[in-house]
Amino acid sequence: MRRCHACNFWILPGGIRDGDYQYCCDTCARDGPIFPLSTQLPKADVRLKALQIHGGRCPACEGRGPVELRLSYRVWSIVVFTHFSTRSQISCRRCGFKAQLRGLVYSTVLGWWSLPLGVLVTPVQIMRNLWAMVFVPDPQQPSAGLLRQASLQLARERLAQERLARERGRA
Ligand SMILES: [Zn+2]
Ligand SMILES: [Zn+2]
Repeated sequence: MRRCHACNFWILPGGIRDGDYQYCCDTCARDGPIFPLSTQLPKADVRLKALQIHGGRCPACEGRGPVELRLSYRVWSIVVFTHFSTRSQISCRRCGFKAQLRGLVYSTVLGWWSLPLGVLVTPVQIMRNLWAMVFVPDPQQPSAGLLRQASLQLARERLAQERLARERGRA
């Protein structure tokens, strides 16, 4: 299945196409220019940005880092419908752990209630949360996921600056 260029979620039939890029929804398409730009930024700039995030305070609790991209996993089901998702947040280990624990409890309670997918996916999501709780990214350096998020943040900032400059130019 095709994946959204913005959020990496699966694109349901339809989707939105913009040049070479495909998006799952309006929000992703609106943020679209961020993604091509993020891949063109100098590697050194991206790395510096990632190191700033990594060594900075946790955006969620203001606590100490290392701040990383932390993933948690959820699933809920009803009769024949199953919805599963991956949530990402940039946070310290403690906040990441809490999100993964919430995902684990959520999935354990709400995941099972469809056949066959709920019963199949729920143990997977539970294991993924457990795995993420135990095996944390290398605390010494930003992970590939954080580097990608850093490139997106940088691209978003640059686009906002450009937009501001354009508006000032017009005024
Ligand atoms: Zn998307
Ligand atoms: Zn935190």
